[in-house]
Amino acid sequence: MIEDGGVAWTGPSAAAPPADERFDAAGRAVLPGFVDSHAHLVFAGERAEEFEARMSGRPYAAGGIRTTVERTRAASDDDLRANLRRLIGEMARQGTTTVECKSGYGLTVEHEERSLRIAAELADEVTYLGAHVVPAGSDASSYTRLAATDMLAACAPHARWVDVFCEEGAFDADQAREVLEAGIKAGLAPRLHANQLTRGPGVRLAVELDAASADHCTFLADADVDALASSRTVATLLPGVEFSTRQPYPDARRLLDAGATVAIATDCNPGSCYTSSMAFCVAVAVRDMRMTPAEAVWAATAGGARALRRTDVGNLAPGARADVHVLDAPSHIHLAYRPGVPQTAAVWKAGRRVM
Ligand SMILES: [Zn+2]
Repeated sequence: MIEDGGVAWTGPSAAAPPADERFDAAGRAVLPGFVDSHAHLVFAGERAEEFEARMSGRPYAAGGIRTTVERTRAASDDDLRANLRRLIGEMARQGTTTVECKSGYGLTVEHEERSLRIAAELADEVTYLGAHVVPAGSDASSYTRLAATDMLAACAPHARWVDVFCEEGAFDADQAREVLEAGIKAGLAPRLHANQLTRGPGVRLAVELDAASADHCTFLADADVDALASSRTVATLLPGVEFSTRQPYPDARRLLDAGATVAIATDCNPGSCYTSSMAFCVAVAVRDMRMTPAEAVWAATAGGARALRRTDVGNLAPGARADVHVLDAPSHIHLAYRPGVPQTAAVWKAGRRVM
């Protein structure tokens, strides 16, 4: 039973209290809405040709992420807002009711601030990712200083989280720490892109700073797995990225068996993974990462909520926000069993029907 946007009661329908309206799910599965705890949605343009070249094994000379930065800077506020609204709508129609959205395609004080201001209008959770990539014409240490000072000051009022891409070729551990610690001082909570391409220091830095989440976790040493398992930091796996870049998948089984908390998210972005489908990510996690369907669905709902330090989403217990995803299927298993098939029958967000 839904009241004032929240779950007021659950139980067998015969025992339900009286209500103004009833919805008969007719034996179909009812899940909490997906919690997509990692997405990059404030951008302009797309990079289909780069994807085609990658899949064809052809070299591709164009600028990768820098192409998106140029297009994003050149776009109007209204264009960025319309693209963001389109993507969040696309997600809602596939059962996603909580969306985290990062900046990171502006890379100047003005454009990062604008990206976050627009994200805050539409996304549930907003993350300052000024330290996404070092922009052309800058060097890593002076850009790090900017991201930890003036850019942070302009961006912090619009965001809850601070994130850094800690990787060879992006920001090293000292640079990531500088931005994250400055973010924490400015009232933001840390999360981190960690260990996507190499067994780098990101995961251990995330755990040391009590980050809500270490995202990617594709290349882990035993010490990384142990650190995650003995911390509150969620390991957020983004299997759409490995799918779309033909990279090896993270070892979800190893993390789960060690006792780490695992979330799944899309990482929806125009470069390395342009899916907005949590159901697709669940199917890949089951097929290729050896998660059970129940583990994968939990990771895509309650796990995502933990990665955002939220208790009001990702579950349907009384007191939760009424984010309800009715499948056109008798059980959650069908999300992995029938990959690629649209199976969202109805969606409510905070008690309001959105699909
Ligand atoms: Zn990302």
